[in-house]
Amino acid sequence: MLAPLTALAALRRNTIEQFERLGIRSVLDLLRHYPYRYDDLRAALTVAALRALPSIEGEVNVMGVIRHVKHIRLRGRVRAKTTAVVDDGTGAITAVWFGRPYLGSVLKAGQRVFMRGRAEATLTGVQMLVGRHRVVTDDEEYSGELVPVYPLTAGLSNYAVQRLVARALARVGARAKGAALLDPLPAGLTARRRFADALWCVRAIHQPKSLEDAQRARERLIYEEFFLLALAAARRRAARRGESSPDLSSAAAPGALADFHQRMRALLPFRLTGAQERVVDEIVGDLAGSWPMNRLLQGDVGSGKTAVAAAAVLFAVRAGYQAAFMAPTEILAAQQFNSLTRLLSPAGVRVAMLVGALRRSTRDDILDQLRRGELDVVVGTHALLTEDVAFHKLGFVVIDEQHRFGVMQRAALRAKAGALTPHTLVMTATPIPRTLAQTVYADLDISVIDELPPGRKPPKTYLRDVDSKDKIFAFIREQVAQGRQAYIVCPAIDESERAMHTAVKQAERLRAHELAGLRVGLLHGKIAGADKEKIMRMFADGFLHVLIATTVVEVGVDVPNATVMLVFDAHTFGLAQLHQLRGRVGRGAAASYCILVAAGDAEDSARLALLERTNDGFAIAEEDARIRGSGDLLGTRQHGLADLRLAQLVRDYSVFLEAKKDADALVASDPRFEKPENARLAAFLATQHTDSVLLASS
Ligand code: ADP
Ligand code: MG
Repeated sequence: MLAPLTALAALRRNTIEQFERLGIRSVLDLLRHYPYRYDDLRAALTVAALRALPSIEGEVNVMGVIRHVKHIRLRGRVRAKTTAVVDDGTGAITAVWFGRPYLGSVLKAGQRVFMRGRAEATLTGVQMLVGRHRVVTDDEEYSGELVPVYPLTAGLSNYAVQRLVARALARVGARAKGAALLDPLPAGLTARRRFADALWCVRAIHQPKSLEDAQRARERLIYEEFFLLALAAARRRAARRGESSPDLSSAAAPGALADFHQRMRALLPFRLTGAQERVVDEIVGDLAGSWPMNRLLQGDVGSGKTAVAAAAVLFAVRAGYQAAFMAPTEILAAQQFNSLTRLLSPAGVRVAMLVGALRRSTRDDILDQLRRGELDVVVGTHALLTEDVAFHKLGFVVIDEQHRFGVMQRAALRAKAGALTPHTLVMTATPIPRTLAQTVYADLDISVIDELPPGRKPPKTYLRDVDSKDKIFAFIREQVAQGRQAYIVCPAIDESERAMHTAVKQAERLRAHELAGLRVGLLHGKIAGADKEKIMRMFADGFLHVLIATTVVEVGVDVPNATVMLVFDAHTFGLAQLHQLRGRVGRGAAASYCILVAAGDAEDSARLALLERTNDGFAIAEEDARIRGSGDLLGTRQHGLADLRLAQLVRDYSVFLEAKKDADALVASDPRFEKPENARLAAFLATQHTDSVLLASS
């Protein structure tokens, strides 16, 4: 049980809801809700000094006694204006507050106040627009403070958070056991890294005596977040080494391996690139090994991941096992099914497809054949996960565009190998920057296809504004006249706040005007699966000249004849996502174009200009991670990244490497945390979500 916030104070229902909106339910959540800056309410200037300044920059502090207050209620949103004359002995200033109706009953003549705000010299003297103030009681020796500034939500004041945090800190500090629960690090590590005490850090980040203290606390807390992330990965990896995997080694016996390579070469209609060859070797090496493979295959769009996967599937089938291939959409599953069938059926490999839209009898047939081992490979969507899908001898699982699937879904597929853990290959076209790959995917081995098949010309990218539309459509018509095709992507299907262009409206408009006479298709998420399939096929077959779509075309779809990718409202997309979209073109031999139409501000344009400059998916992903945070890049917050509150992967990468070194060493020397020095860590992990102990004294 987590100690709820109400263990700290009686809170009103809607206050509780306000905290919940910030993701704060428990006392532990609260203590991990860190301020993002501090307002410096120290070192007041004298009014005389303030007057003597040639100009007053930024916010300043003044402390003095209120001589006179005037409070007026206003109509409208501001509601109130409070004015006070505050005198500090060297002179007086006029302090002004707007929109704080309660001040009328709080501020009184004779009170001492400490104020921080923007000051300005006027004809009648200095005036301050007060941002923060504190009434200082007479018997208080007030020398100022650093006020933590917290992320807030409507209705919740900074002061309310500050006050509740103070209560939590007071209670936690009173209990040695509670304090230990905030400290995951073995004492030896804390000493070696010269970190401050854990409880001190939690206190110092919320109530620092100095900015240096706050910084010292941050250093440890950032390290801790990384340490726990790396520790979890190291443990998963160690656990995997202890699991049994299907034994595929027969396909790697000397004669068999040479035969496999020869067979593969004969099956593929092209020569593998050097990068593909290398990656196939890495995968085959794992498959022949004695623990379950867990490998991530990264390759930019069009780098040829399918051929690599096909080779790996062939290897597994030759060893006598079945393979399952899961893709996120029916369109992609169909495309992969076609590719695998084309590549592998000449070798006698039996491939079937299992998607949601199958006729009952067809589906039953496939399930029977799978169970009896009469099928070698099944390609499908989530439909593979249902309970009635059972295998004769599942040895190898491939998951395409893995970020589209959750951890549970991947686990569900793997569980179909019975007591064994099947070898798993997950593929992604999202280039994952090194920084992220080593954190989020730290328990995976990683292969990278860093070379495109020969003859590819990367698309040229152009950033345009809405005024150039006529030119753009003229260009599209020109391309179509040359026998090419175009994608037009809109950020939303219909009515949407963020999008000026919606797929449905654009389809209507363009069919009637700009693209009249061309065959224009419309594809989006609300269209039923079978129809989606049909439309995609019409585009792939070259019947449709133009496909207007939402981001459903983002992943995987392969139409080499398409040469134009036009994206409307490009500023509403992330860079990595735009790079994915751009990867839909440039898959054939003809020159291709990506046109980004944006209506954002200068900052957006600067961001998008990176796409004009580079085709390097890794550079783009790194930049995206820097701008938008890593969770966003991966499209999900399931990776434990949500536990990173202070740490930022890109900025704090060097800290991560240190933490990972320590975590790996710890797991290597004491995999089950049995040594006495790791006892507290074990307890910490076991009670991660049971901070009720923190407050057990109450
Ligand atoms: P992705 O990595 O995006 O999944 P695909 O596997 O769909 O890429 O491959 C993209 C295209 O490149 C396909 O049409 C495929 O046939 C082709 N291709 C893959 N490898 C090679 C190669 N080594 N030489 C030439 N063409 C290749
Ligand atoms: Mg693909």
